[in-house]
Amino acid sequence: MPIIRMSANKKYDFLIVGSGLFGATFARLATDAGKRCLVIDKRLHAGGNIYCENIEGINVHKYGAHIFHTSDKRVWDFVNSIVPFNRYTNSPVAAAPDGNLYNLPFNMNTFYKMWGVKTPSEAKAKIDEQRGDAIERMSKAGIYEARNLEEQAISLVGNDIYELLIKGYTEKQWGRPCDQLPAFIIRRLPVRLTFDNNYFNDAYQGIPIGGYNKLIDRLLEGSELKLGTDFFQNRHYWASIADKIVFTGKIDEYYGYRFGRLEYRTVKFETEIINEPNYQGNAVVNYTSADIPFTRIIEHKHFEAFGDDVYSNPHTVISREYSTEWTDGMEPFYPVNDEKNQETYKRYKELADREPNVIFGGRLAEYKYYDMAPIINQAFKQWERF
Ligand code: FAD
Ligand code: UDP
Repeated sequence: MPIIRMSANKKYDFLIVGSGLFGATFARLATDAGKRCLVIDKRLHAGGNIYCENIEGINVHKYGAHIFHTSDKRVWDFVNSIVPFNRYTNSPVAAAPDGNLYNLPFNMNTFYKMWGVKTPSEAKAKIDEQRGDAIERMSKAGIYEARNLEEQAISLVGNDIYELLIKGYTEKQWGRPCDQLPAFIIRRLPVRLTFDNNYFNDAYQGIPIGGYNKLIDRLLEGSELKLGTDFFQNRHYWASIADKIVFTGKIDEYYGYRFGRLEYRTVKFETEIINEPNYQGNAVVNYTSADIPFTRIIEHKHFEAFGDDVYSNPHTVISREYSTEWTDGMEPFYPVNDEKNQETYKRYKELADREPNVIFGGRLAEYKYYDMAPIINQAFKQWERF
């Protein structure tokens, strides 16, 4: 049993606003050190965006597919000490406008299907030929460095792949033409001359056995949890009952939107129960055609059931994902990291840096897109500052 030390006047050492992965990890670290934590969340469940809803015995990733991946051994060991992870390996398939299915990320399987090339040197020659045209066109126009996503993609993999697998998907995802999007978005997409469909280059990946809720529940063990509780409904009261606040909500809301609202992209989900055991044979199928309104279909059972196990449940659950602009009342998912929003965030951050008793952490408070593993690492860092 950890020893609980309470400070002289306050009921809790930490009030943690938000039970997402940042808040829950911080709560685990603090509780293990004997601190008393109260975690509040305005949603009716814990876990923030990694929460899963059980539908037909399947863990449905309610806020979008979540695949844990990292090369950080400390983070991997930490999560596995809380709950073991399975061997899920993300290998999405792209349904392209030419009617074919292609493997992602771009690798020898993709190139073989697209051009019939069988060896890495044949593939390289084909990519060079395709890139060559683009680079020549660009240099004729006096452009030596990609100025936008379209130029970046074509100079990386050539026109065929850009037209079939990138353009439609990216424009649906970001709601803007590729020639008006920054080049860096596509730079992280791997291009491989091996027959390797593993989407990530990381050393470790998987899904918690039994689902993400297990991870969250165990991180929150020992903390008090109040759901359906919005910090802003009674902020003075909440601030008065703990020595320190760990705030993982929206930083602009914390400061009453005084410098304006930060913008987000979000995703709408259309979830359906299907009366067959195996709908698409893979967890993730991307639809890269501009004519299909959704970006991808997730079939949730494939995150946790492999081989014949897929057939042990006669039903399956799928979610179609529609990427859309965010307005108040929707879930804020992806920060829009353009200049205007970054400037606004900087002003809020200056205020946050001057708060002696509030720790701002997580993707909403830091206005930054973080994957799960870096979020855990951030929570470690913030905790270690004490
Ligand atoms: P959140 O999960 O958003 O938690 C914040 C919590 O604070 C929420 O529960 C919210 O209700 C609560 N809150 C906010 N304001 C208040 C308030 N005023 N009062 C009380 N409570 C409040 N990462 C990966 O590693 N792999 C993936 O495959 C992956 N896929 C993703 C797909 C999508 C669609 C999205 C959006 C994210 C994905 N991520 C993925 C990132 C992952 O979701 C985040 O890294 C992680 O969830 C961030 O945790 P957090 O605690 O910062 O935020
Ligand atoms: N992308 C694409 N076609 C695909 C998958 C991804 O063009 O089938 C592009 C798209 O621009 C996307 C970027 O690659 O924004 C990064 O994709 P990833 O899946 O890594 O991003 P996430 O959806 O996780 O933000």
